[in-house]
Amino acid sequence: MDIIVLKPDATDEEIRHIIKKLEGLGLAAHLSKGTERTVIGVIGDTSKVTEETDDGFRAIPGVESVMRILKPFKLASREFKKTPTIIKVGDTAIGGRKICVIAGPCSVESKAMMIETAKQVKKAGASFLRGGAFKPRTSPYSFQGLGEEGLKYLDASRQKTGLPIVTELMDPRDIEAVEKYSDIIQIGTRNMQNFRLLLEVGQSRKPVLLKRGLAATIKEWLMSAEYIMSRGNHNVIMCERGIRTFETSTRNTLDLSAVPVLKKLTHLPVVVDPSHGVGVLDHIPAMAKAAVAAGADGLLIEVHPNPEEALSDGEQSLKPEMFKKLMKELAPVAKAVGREI
Ligand code: PEP
Ligand code: MN
Repeated sequence: MDIIVLKPDATDEEIRHIIKKLEGLGLAAHLSKGTERTVIGVIGDTSKVTEETDDGFRAIPGVESVMRILKPFKLASREFKKTPTIIKVGDTAIGGRKICVIAGPCSVESKAMMIETAKQVKKAGASFLRGGAFKPRTSPYSFQGLGEEGLKYLDASRQKTGLPIVTELMDPRDIEAVEKYSDIIQIGTRNMQNFRLLLEVGQSRKPVLLKRGLAATIKEWLMSAEYIMSRGNHNVIMCERGIRTFETSTRNTLDLSAVPVLKKLTHLPVVVDPSHGVGVLDHIPAMAKAAVAAGADGLLIEVHPNPEEALSDGEQSLKPEMFKKLMKELAPVAKAVGREI
């Protein structure tokens, strides 16, 4: 038993009774009220629930049907929620008709460069400002980010431009600060299976941008979304950012087939990051357009006012004027697939 579909006229009392019964089995309930139907997602280990127990639930007044989900992810699945999830952040929505663009430098480097970048990307049409204050670097000797000071610069940029902020959280010890200064919490590739961290952001009220692990299958990635959702935070955005393959012409291999695959398997919005996906400046515009054509709900693009001097990922950062040009080129592609940018 994974999903209990209620009759349209199920009463609050009947719903309370069902929830109590589930709790008696050591399970929890997630109530999802749709326009036509209310469904209860059963949370916990349902593998030991017998067929007889399922039948018992079918006999409860107010219950229309009791279903099992064969997929290992439940809350993230299309079976659980048929309509696409639209995540609202202030006046912006991710997963709706408008394609959201998250733009900004890899790392927050100074207050002035953040404010400058924020103004430029806003003018070009970005919906979110990004920048890492806590950086997951391969080498311990590389720039590790400005930490909380960097978060304050992001906050200052938001105040100047109104752009909401996306920034990475690497350690549960920093969650309070990241929650305070950001609008969307990014979980980076290297932490996609840091389950304690996932459970921590699962308790946050901020949406989570969950990047795909370097060598994660789509199912493993969805299980990570499920970790977050299992703690009550259903605002998860899946972000494809390239995977490890044998190919060396690009930094990673951007798996654009993940977009339609995810759209079939999950109701969660999907964002594509061609910057880390290909890592080669020249190829980023083509892959950004391809991502929109494939049905992505958003893009994450690294933009730096002076890539030559960038403290990280300068080689894949677009200059503001290149970003502006790309935004213009994306408009007809979005239109062709029934979206706008
Ligand atoms: C980033 O967004 O700057 C980043 C570090 O991304 P990823 O986790 O995809 O490598
Ligand atoms: Mn980067």
